[in-house]
Amino acid sequence: MSRPLHDCFGRCHCSAVRVEIRTDFPELTTCDCSIRRRRSALMVRVHKSALRLLAPARALAEYRFHTGMARHYVCRTCDKYPFHRKRLYPDHYAVNVHGLEGIELDGIPVRATVGAAMD
Ligand SMILES: [Zn+2]
Repeated sequence: MSRPLHDCFGRCHCSAVRVEIRTDFPELTTCDCSIRRRRSALMVRVHKSALRLLAPARALAEYRFHTGMARHYVCRTCDKYPFHRKRLYPDHYAVNVHGLEGIELDGIPVRATVGAAMD
């Protein structure tokens, strides 16, 4: 079932990090890698051109591990995870859908991705 393309607003808990994304929510993903498993992350993937950061970049802290290719961001103030830049698709972000407002997630397929086994 395809959904209409629309703009979604998201923010961290303290609102220091605010984003807008454009997507039709083709699917949501989970991941079993060490960081996203601990966050119970549920994400939607968007091209970098479809994410607009509405806050100063200094509001974000960047964390890298393993190969250092993926860039994981958290709010410097409230420590919530808004999005990360993907390792396999560096021109895409995975956005934490729990931070998005006004989105009905029911009916969107969820796909479990395998990150833990990636070399
Ligand atoms: Zn925050």
